[in-house]
Amino acid sequence: MSSVSLTNVSRAYAGVAALDSVSLTAPEAKVLALLGPSGSGKSTIMRLIAGLEAVDAGQVRIGDEIVSTPSRTLAAEARRIGMVFQDYALFPHLTAGANVAFGLDKLARAERDEKTLRWLDRVGLKHRAHAYPHELSGGEQQRVALARALAPAPRAVLLDEPFSGLDPVLRAELRDATLTTLAETKTTTIFVTHDAEDALQVADRLAILKAGRMLQEAPPREAYDRPASLHVAAALGPINSYRGRVQSGVVQTPFGNVAAAHLAEGAEADVAVRAEAIALRAGAGVRVLDVRPHGAHDLVRLESRGLIWRALAPARINLGETVDVELAPTGAFAFAV
Ligand code: ADP
Repeated sequence: MSSVSLTNVSRAYAGVAALDSVSLTAPEAKVLALLGPSGSGKSTIMRLIAGLEAVDAGQVRIGDEIVSTPSRTLAAEARRIGMVFQDYALFPHLTAGANVAFGLDKLARAERDEKTLRWLDRVGLKHRAHAYPHELSGGEQQRVALARALAPAPRAVLLDEPFSGLDPVLRAELRDATLTTLAETKTTTIFVTHDAEDALQVADRLAILKAGRMLQEAPPREAYDRPASLHVAAALGPINSYRGRVQSGVVQTPFGNVAAAHLAEGAEADVAVRAEAIALRAGAGVRVLDVRPHGAHDLVRLESRGLIWRALAPARINLGETVDVELAPTGAFAFAV
């Protein structure tokens, strides 16, 4: 396995930038998640790493090898990168086993058969070796696709939205099973998603993109606890926001003060407060609009001076019609506008 990195990579389509000087690293044997809304450049990054397209500027490296520069693009077949892309579906006319065996054509028959069964076993589908794709569920097809990508011992694998289009229970199961396989096989993985929960659950590192730019690259905990911008804070979970001014080192909001000593005094600032960072207690300062079950929590809508925020409170605490609130500094951020 090898690390994969992009250094100052740009790529434009018909003069419009899809990626603007993006740098990132997928460390060896770790999972890097690319998180961003539709059109932010995630698939473009995958195609550049796979060697399906050329870079306009910068370089792509796999381990120590430079595989893309503006003047040279190593062919996709020579990169030894495994892919699980939605548009790289299983070959419909081949069985699950034959799909996995497809990339092992250089091996002798016996070794190829043995490897195929070993990989199908690894994803829990040895007993389905003779089934055709249409006889498998969506989740099973994805597991075969993962086995097919990993069997030829690639230097890294690319997973493009591998769990989308599956129902939520199956999705979580497949996500966990895939992650276990990737961790056991110490596979360098780059994983595209627009789902924050998937990214936080699966990744060792997060790369958060917007409109072709890298907003932040960090371990999930760091990105969650120390977001570099309002956009990153919002990308990783529900937030409440407010625009105010820095006065005496804080931004005053209708729900309380947020520390902002790192910003210029008097400057405009955007505040982000995570729903779970709002603690509620008996009081009269803030109106409770409604309380709804939300897993282990209640989702509480609060109103203060015309502003409505959402808080996550421990389930079934008794709330009156009004409360007082306290903002936990660990989940309250102020950013320069
Ligand atoms: P994402 O995967 O995050 O949805 P993409 O990498 O597909 O984003 O796209 C990034 C930007 O590049 C978008 O504005 C998209 O319209 C544009 N783009 C991507 N591929 C092409 C292409 N082959 N031709 C023209 N524009 C493209």
